[in-house]
Amino acid sequence: MPDPQFATLAEGTESAENGPEPTVAAMDAASVMTTYARQPLRLVRGEGMYVFDDAGQRYLDFTSGIAVCGLGHCHPALVAAATEQLQTLWHMSNLYLTEPQAELAHRLTQACDMDRVFFSNSGAEANEAAIKLARRYSKLRYGAHKGEILTFTHSFHGRTIATVTATAQPKYQEGFGPLPAGFRYVEELTIDAVRAAVSPKTAAIMIEPIQGEGGVRPVPQPFLRELREICDELGLLLIFDEVQTGIGRTGAWLASQRLQVKPDIVTLAKSLAGGLPIGATLAMNEVAAAFSPGAHGSTFGGNPVAARAALAVLDIVMEPGFLDNVKRRGQQLYSALCALAGKRADIADVRGMGLMWGVQLTGQTAGEVVNRCRERGLLVLTAGADTVRLLPPLIVGAGDIERAVHTLEDALNAVQ
Ligand SMILES: *Cc1c(COP(=O)(O)O)cnc(C)c1O
Repeated sequence: MPDPQFATLAEGTESAENGPEPTVAAMDAASVMTTYARQPLRLVRGEGMYVFDDAGQRYLDFTSGIAVCGLGHCHPALVAAATEQLQTLWHMSNLYLTEPQAELAHRLTQACDMDRVFFSNSGAEANEAAIKLARRYSKLRYGAHKGEILTFTHSFHGRTIATVTATAQPKYQEGFGPLPAGFRYVEELTIDAVRAAVSPKTAAIMIEPIQGEGGVRPVPQPFLRELREICDELGLLLIFDEVQTGIGRTGAWLASQRLQVKPDIVTLAKSLAGGLPIGATLAMNEVAAAFSPGAHGSTFGGNPVAARAALAVLDIVMEPGFLDNVKRRGQQLYSALCALAGKRADIADVRGMGLMWGVQLTGQTAGEVVNRCRERGLLVLTAGADTVRLLPPLIVGAGDIERAVHTLEDALNAVQ
């Protein structure tokens, strides 16, 4: 017998008496929790550098779905890899061995110059695993008093209760207390400030090599080196959150490789599988050994479809010349943005590396500039109220960059 409640619902949606089907926008507005200030666009398709809305309008994508679609939209090699795996084995949990995950672990640890990886599904989860690993390692090695993690003003490490606490920005934390103990914020990117914050309880220092959400702020390379030194001196673990900067974004596989500072733990997510959910926490054997069987886990983490897609991403990003092209396009974008800044009073700063750029404005008008760009067929992001953020797919061409900067100029003119 059909479930009466189910039958009623099914009839209800098909019944003409209920009037026309609600629109996508109406269903979204009525039924999705209101955590996102959505752009007024309904996107239906993506191809390469472009996405298309329900009216067939084309947009040049300089967001990459927030640094996720690093190889653009529907890259044929990724579609083929994920589709093949979908038709073979979607999921079997981590109770069993699957080939895509093992192969990805092998290739990813090599690419990152690390020994071992733990797979999860998002940036926040990758950072949660890093925090848990750092604490457990430090307690095992130095004693139960260890556990505090130092993080920095303007950081962003995720939205779970621990990672939002690690995120040293009050706007993300409001109303979510009590927040977990064991995080301490450093206000300045100086080694003196770090020394003042370190205590016998400190287990690790966690930092993004370029602070993304906090305004596209590159952390000075000498400071990262000093962090490495102080961690070695005091027996602390250095955690790099490369969720946004990893997978070629800065012109190297990892930003830390370009900056030549090696962390003890590195976290990845966003573009690792080119758009499918995945997170990864990597460490050397000595640290990784703190995770014994049962210590941590994830139902979906490293599932075969995401792992297969990530292997396809690795294949492409590691092709000879790919990362050199990211550097070249990055240099082109930087030069064009500097030229734009040189002739305008409304741009205060241009910051970033590779294909990750922030254009800081003199006013709090980044949201308006994003709207004016969208109306002109270009999608860009904000990073705070005064910074427009550009994160094009790594496959971006020279002509795309020219068009985007030209459109940004038009948009800035429309805001004044
Ligand atoms: C996006 C981001 C996160 C959070 O990733 P989610 O997948 O949204 O959980 C963490 N750290 C950095 C640096 C990020 O850019």
